[in-house]
Amino acid sequence: MKSLEELTRPNIWKLSPYSSARNEYSGQKARVFLDANENPYNQPFNRYPDPLQNELKKRLSEVKKVRQECIFLGNGSDEAIDLAYRCFTQPGIDNVVAIEPTYGMYKVCADINDVEYRPVLLDDHFLITADRLLDACDSKTKIIWICSPNNPTGNTIQREEMLKVIDNFEGLVVVDEAYSDFSSERPMRHELHQHPNLIVLNTFSKAWGCAAIRLGMAFAQPAIIELFNKVKYPYNINQLTQEQALEALKDPYEVDNWVKLLLQERTRMMQNVNLLPITEKVYPTNANFFLVKVTDAQKIYDYLVGQGIIVRNRTRVQLCQNCLRITIGNKKENNELLAALRQYE
Ligand SMILES: *Cc1c(COP(=O)(O)O)cnc(C)c1O
Repeated sequence: MKSLEELTRPNIWKLSPYSSARNEYSGQKARVFLDANENPYNQPFNRYPDPLQNELKKRLSEVKKVRQECIFLGNGSDEAIDLAYRCFTQPGIDNVVAIEPTYGMYKVCADINDVEYRPVLLDDHFLITADRLLDACDSKTKIIWICSPNNPTGNTIQREEMLKVIDNFEGLVVVDEAYSDFSSERPMRHELHQHPNLIVLNTFSKAWGCAAIRLGMAFAQPAIIELFNKVKYPYNINQLTQEQALEALKDPYEVDNWVKLLLQERTRMMQNVNLLPITEKVYPTNANFFLVKVTDAQKIYDYLVGQGIIVRNRTRVQLCQNCLRITIGNKKENNELLAALRQYE
């Protein structure tokens, strides 16, 4: 790995961040807060939230088994994705490499930041070798994006290949594990200590059932977390989100139950969809969705919309021609989809 200084945008490396009133104060014994120009009335909404979300991170560190200094919290994972560009890539100069097809935000954020995006096509099984990703890199490549389980394909990328990329790349590797709760693979966040160039993304939006509160996580070595904290908005995670996340973290077993139910339903849905005359191929998955190749994705998508049922049409995505991406819902929702598809002709 190159030094973190070499990998960081020079202005960001030198940046003195905004220091908020609540940043400077971190003791526990104060009684009177006259430092932040807040209104003393309208409790509990009158106070600024903890800019570094310490209580929440402490609890997360127990649940995720990652040291607190290695955790960044963002307004969705999307904030961490954008911060990776803003911290590490120079507009008009640097580039990033990513598997293709994958989650759309890596490219959108590259475009917003005026950074060249180099997609590397997966093979027919939606897999990739480390060598193909590394071959796409040059001295200006700062980040390699890997999503596993991958969206929209659903499969995991082989662990040995990911580790080989991480070990042999001089820049940073982001592994987006938004769907890892649905997979039996060992999560990459447990590899952080041996791999200083690894950044792992997690989210509250999928297995944790909290898409509405907008909370994403990045796990990385403390020096990378400090860079993210320097660049983020001072109060990027609002008080309501912090409280709701703590509430969700009280009962992680509930999440396990949801995941079990969704995996059972996933098996049932894949078996039933596989029997439909419109189905050409159901692809294997490790996520809470699956990809299915059908006779005519656009027509079937439009038909479903007419029935008030929305799936994701991925037919214009590379390698996904005539594919629909189907999220696993509850039993009733899943049955409605199956009934509609059975009536399609
Ligand atoms: C859904 C999803 C996310 C979640 O993004 P949030 O901003 O945390 O809601 C992240 N990465 C991938 C690949 C996803 O599919």
